Amino acid sequence: QHSNSAEARDLAYHLHSFTHLPSLAEDGPLVLESGQGIYVTDNHGRRYIEGISGLWNIVVGFGEERIAEAAYAQMKKLPAYHTFFGRTASPVIDLAERLIELAPVAMKRVYFVNSGSEANDTAIKMLWMLNIGAGRSEKRKIISRKKAYHGTTVASCSLNGKPYIECFGLPLKEIIYTDCPHYWRDGRPGESESDYAQRLADNLEELIQAEGADTIAGFIAEPVMGAGGALVPPEGYFEKIEAVLRKHDIAIIADEVVCGFGRTGNMWGSQTYNFRPDIICTSKCLTAGYFPMGAVLMSPEIDAQLMEAAEAMGEFPHGFTTAGHPVGAAVALKTLELITEPGGMFDNLRRVAPHFQAGLQKFADHPLVGEARGVGLIGALEIVSDKATKTPFAEEHLIGEQVVRRAQANGLILRPIGESVIFAPPFIISEAEIDDMFARTGKVLDEIEAHVQKNGLRAAAAAAE
Ligand code: PLP
Repeated sequence: QHSNSAEARDLAYHLHSFTHLPSLAEDGPLVLESGQGIYVTDNHGRRYIEGISGLWNIVVGFGEERIAEAAYAQMKKLPAYHTFFGRTASPVIDLAERLIELAPVAMKRVYFVNSGSEANDTAIKMLWMLNIGAGRSEKRKIISRKKAYHGTTVASCSLNGKPYIECFGLPLKEIIYTDCPHYWRDGRPGESESDYAQRLADNLEELIQAEGADTIAGFIAEPVMGAGGALVPPEGYFEKIEAVLRKHDIAIIADEVVCGFGRTGNMWGSQTYNFRPDIICTSKCLTAGYFPMGAVLMSPEIDAQLMEAAEAMGEFPHGFTTAGHPVGAAVALKTLELITEPGGMFDNLRRVAPHFQAGLQKFADHPLVGEARGVGLIGALEIVSDKATKTPFAEEHLIGEQVVRRAQANGLILRPIGESVIFAPPFIISEAEIDDMFARTGKVLDEIEAHVQKNGLRAAAAAAE
């Protein structure tokens, strides 16, 4: 690359988020210039299918003029405002009302933030404040799950059940973890999905007993674990977990940042998996990534308790300058209209989802694929070295990175998560585009299989066992 190229300047001046640095140094960044529908185009004019909607969020696709126009109109009218000191802008009121209408269970009030991380941090602070307000200052712990991803700020990063958080000296002392539900990987021989779910619920019960229910404020979960690898919960899981939590008066925070607004085939992941959140955190699809925004929805009970604590303080002493942004609200209102209108994007998702899931399942027999899993318009292929033993490839082979690199060469943007390859295309994708995406995927997997065979990577894995 020329030393003055966009790629060279990016490498020189810009620190990327969650990027494998040796691969970046070798391959350089992917610099995107434009997008239309499910496609993005890079600075060399190469076109790619966006197989994961950016970061799960650009669900309306690219080049959606109706959102651009809504943003522009609001920019001209009132380009910015805040929600401090009792102030707000009218689209923010409309959006709060719309979110309460769309909520999967009766919700009372909405709090606006800029991101999913901020939504989760805010939910935790709400629980902390309302418990302190009610004289239960010991009731502070939050149960998260191994492999969970809830964000990047100090508290939400602490919720991530991933080893890397130790490099920040996290988690916070209030955060504890229970099992990650992954039946294919962790179910015991002969154990049914529902027995497995019961075992996890029993483990949760034990954890709560050991810690003391009166020290635990909440439990947070993604209905489908996104960055954990598009992990779909086993049958009956959330019903069983909810029963344990209700018994111990532990609030349920549904992190609907990925699942909210349709991804799992219902408007909310908590509807797909039949549980009733006390707090819902959303972001991403809310504005389809066209504007940074998130929201926290509170049940009437949570709201009443928080209001009581806030009244004692005189206020809810929390807030982000740009949260409840009028342009964000205008973008969100338009996005939600495009998603929910009859014949709109959610209807398209429901129409194509069975085709998407069937396409994914066709890879189940591929020698590299241990599990093909998904729901709605989200799915993953878990890559293994040995199908029978479910053994992954050794980390140094960077199989996930290889898949992504070869996918990119084949005009497809995918995301590796550990050994899984994730698919979460925009809601507007057609059946023909799904076929195209999976045809490219098949080509990539065959290339990887040839690479694995040529280099004897499977034998190396077996020898290492
Ligand atoms: N929660 C979930 C389930 C997520 O997938 C993410 C981001 O990927 C977040 C929270 C954090 O959102 P943000 O990156 O907007 O802070």
